[in-house]
Formats: sequence, structure tokens, C-alpha cells
Amino acid sequence: MEKSKPVRAVVFDLDGTLYLSGKPYPGAVETVKKVAEQVPVFYLSNNTSKSPVFYENHLRRMGFPLSGDGLLSALTNALAMIHEQKIGNVFLFANAEVSEWFAAQDPSLNLNPDMNETELVLMAYHNAFTYRELCELSWRLQRGARFWVTHTDFVCPDVLGPVPDIGSFLAMLETAYHIRPELYFGKPNPEMLSPVLAKFAPEEILLVGDRLYTDFELSRRAGSRFALTLCGETKQDDLIHLSEKPEIVADLVRDIPFEELLTSTGR
Ligand SMILES: [Mg+2]
Repeated sequence: MEKSKPVRAVVFDLDGTLYLSGKPYPGAVETVKKVAEQVPVFYLSNNTSKSPVFYENHLRRMGFPLSGDGLLSALTNALAMIHEQKIGNVFLFANAEVSEWFAAQDPSLNLNPDMNETELVLMAYHNAFTYRELCELSWRLQRGARFWVTHTDFVCPDVLGPVPDIGSFLAMLETAYHIRPELYFGKPNPEMLSPVLAKFAPEEILLVGDRLYTDFELSRRAGSRFALTLCGETKQDDLIHLSEKPEIVADLVRDIPFEELLTSTGR
């Protein structure tokens, strides 16, 4: 990989990288603001418990600079694929605000189809579901509906400790029915970076994230550069046995040598 060229775009993961449970890490806002003065900044998260609109407002409220196309969401990619495959009857397993976002994006979608007319079950990170909703989803899968998930993370970070995410729900469904999803959209699917890759070469993009199997893996698949933060999921000890190490490892986003990366000839 060519590492002598300056970085021309930076993509930040959210949870565990810029903030935890809505509270920015020390220096995160100031650092991102400084970066955004020099190059375009993008944000991406696998967390689909809230809508893209929520994340846009959330980032702006905390003071992070955000341009119109700055937020990369698995929900946007899932919706694009629903359109591409001309699917109309989608059982959406998602929090109410995400369902509302889907309905607003495409009022022609039937998001509450009968059991036998369901073409697709789309599972987002629903963290307020009832057992009945889980049964409704299961019955549709048993009747042969296609099955997509927004992402496959096992856990989601939380101040009190990680909590089960879609990857854990999938283990449950696999145990019960031997069913696995046909598609996922979030990291490490390189499609998550497609709006950035449309404008910049992979080696001009720096991805910043805290998780090895999503963020680092995405950067490997996309061919981008990568900076790991140790304030989220990954700890220094987790790096010992890695055959390929991240290019940059920093405690916090503010410790990443952006000055060097954005301007100079690198290392
Ligand atoms: Mg993260």
C-alpha cells in the first residue's frame, strides 16, 4: 500500500471511537473540527437502533462538523438494495423511529405485510422489541421470506458494559431454525464506504475505528488506511497475535498524528 501520499478524506466510526453512550471522548470534537478544516470528514456507524436523521442531529448537537452527505449508514444501503431488487413487502424488525424513517423515505413500501405476503425480513438493531415481534419475525422466516440484516456485530458498546446486538440475535435464530441472513450492509461490507470511494482513491482515505472485526476489516477490504483507537472495544493486548497490525494505534482520536497524515510525506 502506498503510504507516502497525504490523506485526503477521513472516515470516523462513532460508538467507541468519537463517543461512548453519547458522551464525546476528551478532545474528540476539537480534533475532528480541525481535521474537517483541511479535508472532507465522514462518519459511519453500524448502529441501526436510530435513524440517520437522529445521528445527524446527535453529531451536530455534540459539536461535530457534518456536511450534507457526511453520514454513511447501513440503513441507506439496505433501502437502496430493496429498491434495486424491487421488493415491496418488507417486515422491518426495527425500533419505531427507524420504521418511521423508512416509511418517510419510501411511502410505497409495505412495512407491515401479512405473514404470507412478506417478501423480505430486514432486521435492524431493534433494542426495544417484544417477544411477540420476535415470533412475528420467526414465523415469516419459517415461511420462506428472504432475510437481510443491517449488520452483524455481536455486541454494542454501552457505559455499563457491551449489550447484545444483531450478531447475537442471529446466533439465536440459527439455533432455533438453522436460518442465516443472505445479506448484510454495515461494516465490514466495503459498500459502506462507496460514497467516499467514489471521490477518493482507497489509499487517500483514512478510516478511524475501535473494532478489529468491523472497522479494521472494512479498511482491509476497501484498501484504505487505518487508525485504531484503544478507547473502545479493542485493547493493546488484542493486537499481540494479529498477523497484520493497524498502521496507527492511538489511545484517543486526539492522539492520532493528523497533522502529519494530512500534509506530509508520512512515514
Ligand atoms: Mg465502534
